[in-house]
Amino acid sequence: MSLVFDHVTLGQRVMFSSGHAAENLATEVDRLGADRVMVIASRSEHSVAPDVARNIDVALFHDDLAPHVPVAKAEKARTAAVQNAIDLLVCIGGGSTIGMAKAVALTTGLPIVAVPTTYAGSEATNVWGLTETARKTTGVDDTVLPATVVYDAQLTLSLPVELSIASGLNAMAHCIDSMWAPRADPINRALASEAIRSLAEGLPAIKTDPHDVTGREQTLYGAYLSAVAFGSAGSGLHHKICHVLGGAYDLPHAQIHATVLPYVLAFNAPMSPEAERRIAAAFGTGTASAGLNGLRNVLDAPRALKDYGFDESAIPEAVSLILPVVPASNPRPVTSADLEALLRAAHSGETPGGN
Ligand code: NAD
Repeated sequence: MSLVFDHVTLGQRVMFSSGHAAENLATEVDRLGADRVMVIASRSEHSVAPDVARNIDVALFHDDLAPHVPVAKAEKARTAAVQNAIDLLVCIGGGSTIGMAKAVALTTGLPIVAVPTTYAGSEATNVWGLTETARKTTGVDDTVLPATVVYDAQLTLSLPVELSIASGLNAMAHCIDSMWAPRADPINRALASEAIRSLAEGLPAIKTDPHDVTGREQTLYGAYLSAVAFGSAGSGLHHKICHVLGGAYDLPHAQIHATVLPYVLAFNAPMSPEAERRIAAAFGTGTASAGLNGLRNVLDAPRALKDYGFDESAIPEAVSLILPVVPASNPRPVTSADLEALLRAAHSGETPGGN
């Protein structure tokens, strides 16, 4: 069979070393020749941010943040960056904090050094998101891709186990959706396969011992690879469903991804033999669903949308919002009846794929 693809690799420096975020951040601030640094970190991330920034001169600390980057807060941060003649953005935190840095970069063109503290993976993509009156807008722009990512698994030690698992399964969703997303190709599928293997090793280790940095490193490494795969392959059916649920019903990002994923896998995998083979091989299990469901059982993963504030009565509306955005690349045609069945199962938490 001939091999034909058109793949774009995004340019970014990635520094990965546990316990060395402060040194690596200072190296990058020097290398980029920055004089006026704005550090973006939420108040709850203040337990780590000042320590990570201890070796650099900070012109401005900005902590007025909220989940999903509200437009009004982005405008405030942009104004602060301009008024303070900022020449580099440093974001230290989860996907919401990195999302704020991206929003500022989008209009100012300022470079970003990202220091992630969750497994959401936004640092490795050129995708931005903003919300206004409960509507989430996303876009793709290379201006928002961080110039450098400084990974330090010790910074994720304070992430509570439940949130670590949800966030790690958000990364798993990037991998699995990359198998059939619109720009899926052999390179992003290979990255996604390695990420599945690494997440399947790291997440149970976090569950067993949340203070063991080895499991955190495997998960962070997998999260990075998963985001590179996702950034390259684009949003598949799973991300389209979660984008609607998160945006229209204000549901928590990582938990929604963790809950919906096995239902999308069970729906698509039988019609996508290559995805089925690659995912099962990465898990080392007989089938892809057996691998994911087995991991979810070990992790005691988020199980039902009803547990995260999604009301059953919203299912018909959600179906009507998702149907028009189903990617043409999906390996299986999707009807409104299919989506309704998928959302009803995810709402109640019945075992997906019957495993
Ligand atoms: P988050 O950034 O909202 O963080 C969740 C909570 O964890 C927050 O309260 C935060 O303060 C806290 N937290 C973060 N790190 C911590 C740590 N080490 N210790 C203790 N608490 C910590 O959630 P998230 O799941 O990281 O990110 C979700 C957001 O990222 C969503 O808005 C999503 O759309 C976006 N996202 C974007 C992309 C992209 O490519 N653009 C990819 C993934 C996610």
